[in-house]
Amino acid sequence: MELNDSEERGSVEDRRGGKKSLAIGGGIGAVVIALIASYIGIDPKVAQQIVGGVAGGGAQTQGTGKADGYAEFSSKLLGSTNTVWKDQFRKNRYSKYRGAAYEEPGMVLFSDQVESGGCGVAPSAVGPFYCPASKKVFLDPTFFEELESKLGGSKAEFSQAYVIGHEVGHHVQNLLGYETESYQAKDGKQNAGIRMELQADYLAGVWAHHAKDKLKINQDDIASALKTARSIGDNRIQEKMKGKSWPESFNHGRDDQRLKYFKEGFETGDASEGRLNKFFDRNVKPLDL
Ligand SMILES: [Zn+2]
Repeated sequence: MELNDSEERGSVEDRRGGKKSLAIGGGIGAVVIALIASYIGIDPKVAQQIVGGVAGGGAQTQGTGKADGYAEFSSKLLGSTNTVWKDQFRKNRYSKYRGAAYEEPGMVLFSDQVESGGCGVAPSAVGPFYCPASKKVFLDPTFFEELESKLGGSKAEFSQAYVIGHEVGHHVQNLLGYETESYQAKDGKQNAGIRMELQADYLAGVWAHHAKDKLKINQDDIASALKTARSIGDNRIQEKMKGKSWPESFNHGRDDQRLKYFKEGFETGDASEGRLNKFFDRNVKPLDL
């Protein structure tokens, strides 16, 4: 993947290296955010165990990280998603949006914990997430180290792009009015959650499809994203953490499904309303969308 300088930039705020004033890990903030925000795939409770060393005060985030070029990297990536989604919103004229221009999301880079502006205070341990109230994606870049070393994912650039694309997918859902709450009554909360997550993976794939020529996305890039998609399937995370998995507690979809929908989005690039609505078709079980 190549991010060149002529690309549009997204709006990224670098809050890393701020002071650690609040207790990390527990508290009301963490509970609040667990209910509202959308994650990449790590249940906050499980995340606490995975990165317990960090959240519990063992390991520490090093330095401020501000000189590492990450703000530059993420603003180019976010800019690429802006370009693609503006175009898709124009072309698809979604009934709820009626051809209005795509509203760009913000992104906040943080370390340790962050005030999300409507979804509470979140510790790094929850992993990247999107807060619908502030329309922002929140990311502690050190997550990718954990992803590779502890979950068997990849920290390659495009794998990170997939994760950001997934969170931007939640933003697209927010704009288009897809939300867990409106479907859980007829489908159960868990199923509605899985539909949302698989659709977000699909939307990440749609972005990658439309960005692939400009960003020179190649097979190795896709392989790194698929490795990550596989590593954060609920069954994988649970197997790693507990030695076995419990399908009834899944909320993001199994590894094969995450893979399947990212791939389908990447191959078809189809962001039409009809295709997106299918993720919420009552006659189709969430696990065989
Ligand atoms: Zn998600």
